[in-house]
Amino acid sequence: MPDRLHLAIQKSGRLSDYSRDLLRDAGLRIQHGKNNLAARVENFPIDLMFVRDDDIPTFVADGVCEFGIVGLNVLEEFALGQSEPRFEVVAPLGFGRCGLKIAAPDRLDYDGPGSLQGTRIATSYPRLLQRFLDQHGIDATVVKMNGAVELAPRLQIATFICDLVSTGATLEANGLRVVETVLDSEAVLVRTRKPMSPGKAEVSENLLRRIEGVLATQESKYIMMNAPEEALDEITHILPGVEAPTILPLAGRPGHYAVHAVCQESVFWETLQKLKAAGASAILVMPIEKMMM
Ligand code: ATP
Ligand code: ZN
Repeated sequence: MPDRLHLAIQKSGRLSDYSRDLLRDAGLRIQHGKNNLAARVENFPIDLMFVRDDDIPTFVADGVCEFGIVGLNVLEEFALGQSEPRFEVVAPLGFGRCGLKIAAPDRLDYDGPGSLQGTRIATSYPRLLQRFLDQHGIDATVVKMNGAVELAPRLQIATFICDLVSTGATLEANGLRVVETVLDSEAVLVRTRKPMSPGKAEVSENLLRRIEGVLATQESKYIMMNAPEEALDEITHILPGVEAPTILPLAGRPGHYAVHAVCQESVFWETLQKLKAAGASAILVMPIEKMMM
């Protein structure tokens, strides 16, 4: 029996579905429903732990879970309270994007970080906020709240707030506006620094390869087009993130070629227009289902 790896994901919240989807796309077959505290992965020696996101950094740091998926905001806040990092971020995951922002009441004039001097700022992220204030040489009172931070100005607990923002709709509804960015965040895959047994290390590498494969395919596209010989050079330069495209002669059309390539970066309409202008025709862009580099 090989050692089983433990991977912590958020039990229920903004990251849960994305985390499960990512693991599924990586080929992990998860056994149980959402409400259990743990689930076995059928086809890998991995157990999933469903926990509060705030507990994930501790579990990974202590090595209770070798891996975790958590917002960078939660992870960094935790890390600032530790003397040494006992985990490492192995991959940004591209979901759960948000920003830790300082917001001010609409009616208040704001003129840069200096306007925060001597004020009270409510937040659930006291360490990240304190770091921001220190970096700007600002002396302010950090008021720690565990939730409903956006109510603080109305309750006159604080003048400013420092909270997570994605669309800004919640702020707007509370008569607040963003004035500073403290941290740009997204979900990350984090790994313990505790040494693993050779068995676990091997599963760990395998898991990482799989997840990297999923992340690579999310951005990547397979692109095909036809082009005359004289356009090939320019086309190769335009293709985003392509090292060596495949170039094949077209049957019955001397001097014309089919160009096939895997683009490792997003392909935009703009790119297609450039390719067309360079002489390409019949351009097709297709999603890639699986990839192993
Ligand atoms: P838990 O019950 O696990 O403690 P929670 O209420 O602390 O959950 P959620 O609101 O589910 O957490 O948010 C989880 C993570 O989602 C955040 O830490 C952050 O990284 C990310 N996130 C993305 N957009 C937002 C947003 N608009 N507001 C809050 N968090 C966001
Ligand atoms: Zn939480």
